[in-house]
Amino acid sequence: MTEDAAKFPAVDPIRAALSASCPRCGNGRLFYGLTKPRASCSSCGLDYSFIDAGDGPAIFVILLADLLVVGLAVWVEINYQPSIWLHILFFGPLAIGVSLWLMRVMKAWLIAMQYRHNASQGAIDRD
Ligand SMILES: [Zn+2]
Repeated sequence: MTEDAAKFPAVDPIRAALSASCPRCGNGRLFYGLTKPRASCSSCGLDYSFIDAGDGPAIFVILLADLLVVGLAVWVEINYQPSIWLHILFFGPLAIGVSLWLMRVMKAWLIAMQYRHNASQGAIDRD
């Protein structure tokens, strides 16, 4: 990927994650739909077959979404004591929405970091 650095300026992984764009050029779309990676970048042609985010995004989503939504729910309960129906109607959809958005962002971020650090599955070289 050293020749990539000569042709394409470095893309900030956070910017690539927030826009779910190609980790090499920052322009092409990374996903079909919510989190399914495309075969390649429509802008620069980067082959996305190297992508292997695994279960990594899920643990970040579980930790961060729970911290945000449950923390906000506890804060609202302590300060305003609304009825349980308000909690269900507000925090239920909020938890789902935050989780879906965060899953997309975290997966794109992990892919961008994988590309930046040229990370791949470990292999034993016996030569
Ligand atoms: Zn690209």
